[in-house]
Amino acid sequence: MLDTIRNWRVRRVVARHPIAEPLWQHALRQCAPARRLGATDQAALRVLVTLFLEDKALEPVQGLELDEADRVLLATHACVPILKLGLDWYDGWHSVIVYPDAFIPRRTHTDEAGVVHETRNAMAGEAWGRGPVILSWADVLDAGKVPGHNVVIHEMAHKLDMLNGEANGFPPLQRRMDRRAWTQVFSRAWNRLRDDHRNGLPLPIDPYGLESEAEFFAVASEQFFEQPAALREHLPEVYRQLEQFYRQHPY
Ligand SMILES: [Zn+2]
Repeated sequence: MLDTIRNWRVRRVVARHPIAEPLWQHALRQCAPARRLGATDQAALRVLVTLFLEDKALEPVQGLELDEADRVLLATHACVPILKLGLDWYDGWHSVIVYPDAFIPRRTHTDEAGVVHETRNAMAGEAWGRGPVILSWADVLDAGKVPGHNVVIHEMAHKLDMLNGEANGFPPLQRRMDRRAWTQVFSRAWNRLRDDHRNGLPLPIDPYGLESEAEFFAVASEQFFEQPAALREHLPEVYRQLEQFYRQHPY
């Protein structure tokens, strides 16, 4: 029954707010992971994008304006990771705040000595546990220009990671997945890359992924969708875990 209601709602939303063909083609040109999908998966993604735009509020700030093509493009990037999972995986939050460019959040934290520190670092994106996703539009448009980079997929990976608590590189796994194998594979790869980085060797992923387990998962997810062949070649076990988690086979 639930499925019938859901299907009916999906059909209604898609019928009322279809994505015009030129906008969809534009999104496919800009989003390599979506472009590489087969026709059936692209059609499913198009429905998901329609539902995403119905469900989430995209809020440009600081004078930025997003037209319909921009919104469809952003939603297309955002829906790639949940193509085989469903929009439920993005439950619990509502808005995507979009800055024109890298933004500088004013952060304070109090250390053990009771000293309050304020940090101001330019950021391309940010995701809060129950709150909004924050993105820099300039960085959204840069997806794929630096090979393997996609800030929208990165922040969405953090959102998935936080479905079961704080971001720690351990999202809720699929039923048949082995939790121990996930932890082993990711920590082994992380340690190895950290050693390589210390020894000045080139890394197969953005070194930012070595900041924490959460960043490693997010950066590996970007690479999984943007440059699947490279990830599979250099970190095959990580690739296989992500394949099972996202239920997709991009390579
Ligand atoms: Zn991150």
